[in-house]
Parts: sequence; structure tokens; C-alpha cells
Amino acid sequence: MKIVKIETFTQSFVALVRVTMEDGIVGIGQMSPYHADISTDVFHRFVAPAAIGRSVDGIEQLVEDIFSETLKFPGTFMCRAMAGLDTALWDAAGKRAGQPVYVLLGADGGNVPVYGSSMCRKIGPDEEAERFLRLRDAHGFQSFKFRVGRSNGRNQDAWPGRTPAIADAVCKAFNGDDIRFLADGNSCYDAENAIMVGRMLADAGVHQFEEPCPYWDYDATRTVREALDIDVSGGEQDNYLPAWSYMVRSNVVDICQPDLCYLGGVSRALAVARIAAEQDKAIVFHAANDSLVTLFSLHVFASLPNAGHACEFNIEGPEYHDPLLRELFEPAVVVRDGKARLNGEPGWGIQPTRTWLEAASYRALDLE
Ligand SMILES: [Mg+2]
Repeated sequence: MKIVKIETFTQSFVALVRVTMEDGIVGIGQMSPYHADISTDVFHRFVAPAAIGRSVDGIEQLVEDIFSETLKFPGTFMCRAMAGLDTALWDAAGKRAGQPVYVLLGADGGNVPVYGSSMCRKIGPDEEAERFLRLRDAHGFQSFKFRVGRSNGRNQDAWPGRTPAIADAVCKAFNGDDIRFLADGNSCYDAENAIMVGRMLADAGVHQFEEPCPYWDYDATRTVREALDIDVSGGEQDNYLPAWSYMVRSNVVDICQPDLCYLGGVSRALAVARIAAEQDKAIVFHAANDSLVTLFSLHVFASLPNAGHACEFNIEGPEYHDPLLRELFEPAVVVRDGKARLNGEPGWGIQPTRTWLEAASYRALDLE
């Protein structure tokens, strides 16, 4: 089944991809968020010309072939652009089969446990605890993540004392309830400080410490993992599959947190999940950037034999990254009883809105 047309729709934060197959089926995908204009340029330089006219017998094979053909450019923007093609092809495959992507991937159902993920370091401890309680009551979240330290903060806190205070306030607010708490360091600490903070978090009742050390320092992260009794997790920035093999085999983290779009799409997310499964490690997707990343992650997470306790779900709302994301697609994903409800429609089960598409810059490549 050949790809006969590839279109892109680009705004500042995200770019959508629309592929048309020779049987007329149309698939919608999305490149990875941030600097979407650059990703779109890379897409039209490398990805679209390689894909147009290609027969898609297997999406994973096609993605691997295009990466192989562009072997001198394996970096983040190639992956970000590739995510657009890959996810559009999975949508088209689902529509052809008359099935949602999660069914194509072998999932039993489309109700996916999610954890409420705070993106905010400006929020105070009591305010964060109250917000989590409200969200638990409204949507049934059974797990939450809050932020500790400063992002890449060289052991500094957002303000003095915030990290122990927020761990204490959040855990005490749910005193006795069976809630799983994650704390995200976003590369803040060296190993020595991460171990001290991790022990404090464990004492407060936190279960998982994400990205305690600069993410590229695998030795420091492993040292922290070996010292702590709680789970250490990470990997959202890692888009190189051999790096994932190394991280998993050398026990850098307990729980793997790949980002489906940073990686290059569903196909490579499945590859990371298989790498993790070989060492019995769970996947908890990083899906912080709103847009369609969350939706894609939910579909794939539903199908994974080694899915972790819950998939990330941003509680700030689309306006956190870009107010225009509220118009990106419909229908919105609803969370009830702590689970995101996928709608069972073919493909990704959504449509981009006309409003968003009309405000985007447009490029297209047709099969001659
Ligand atoms: Mg993180």
C-alpha cells in the first residue's frame, strides 16, 4: 500500500502530518512538540521525500529503513520529525482495519490508568496538596507526580525548603490512602545529594524518584538507584536505541520512561518496550507535552505486557504549553475513576479541528 500524499500543518509548538494512501485512506499523526518549524523543515528535507511512493508493508520496517538511509543524521530533530510520519501511518493502519490503534497493538481494552502529573515548580506545598485532593475527588486519580529541586538545578531548590515541604504536605494530605507518589528531579542533583533527597522522599511516603541526576550521567543515576529503596526512573530524553539497551542492561533505572514522540513514534517506542521487557523492567511513558503525545502514549501503553502502574497525564491543561492546543483535536481524552477513556473509534479516534488546521502553515508533497 503506497503513500501517495504527505501534508504538514505547522504552528509554533506542534506540527501535524496527514498521509494519504493509494486506497484513499488518510492518517493523522504529529511530530514531537517544541520548535515545530524546525521539525517540519527536517521532515520535508529527510522524511517526506524518503516516504513518498513507498509501499508500507510494515510501519516498523519502513521507519527503520528511513533511519538507516539517513544514517548521518540520527539526532533529536530527525526523531521528532519521524514521529509525525510513524504516527500518521498507525492511524491509517487502524482506519483500514476498522480498529483503534490499541486493538491493532493487541490491547484488551481502552481504559488506561493514568497518574496526575504536575508540571509546576512555582506552586507551594499546601496548594499542590489541595490540587491533588481535588483532582482525586473529581477524576479518581490514584497516583500523582510533583516536582522537586530545580530543573537541571545543580542541587538548588526552587526556593529554600520547598522539596521536603512539598513531599511532606502532599503525602500527609492523603494520609492512609493507597496513592502512589512520584517526585521528578528533572536532572537536579548530583549522586550524593540525590541520595539524601531520595531518602527524605522515601521517609515521606514517595514511591518513585524520577530523573534524580543529570539524565546523561548514567553512572550517577545508577549509584542513586543502588542506594535507594524506592524506584528510580528516567529516560524521557533518550532517543538512541543503543543507549536504551545500555541503560536497561546495566540497571541504570528501575522503571523506563521513554517519550514516544521524542523517540520517533510508536515503532521505536515498541522497540524500547521490548528492550525493557528483556530485563523485566516496566514502561511508564513520559507524556508531559499535551497535544497528541498523550493520546498516542495511552494507546501504546494499553497494549504493553510490561506497562507500569499508570501513564503520565498532564494536569495543567493544554494552555500550559500553548493555549492553541485546546483547539488541536477532538474529542478530548476524558479521565474517569483514574483511567483515561479511549473512545474505540478506528485509528487514534480523533480529528484535528478545522480552526487549528486553518491557522497552521501548510506544506505538501505529492507522488509525481
Ligand atoms: Mg520527567
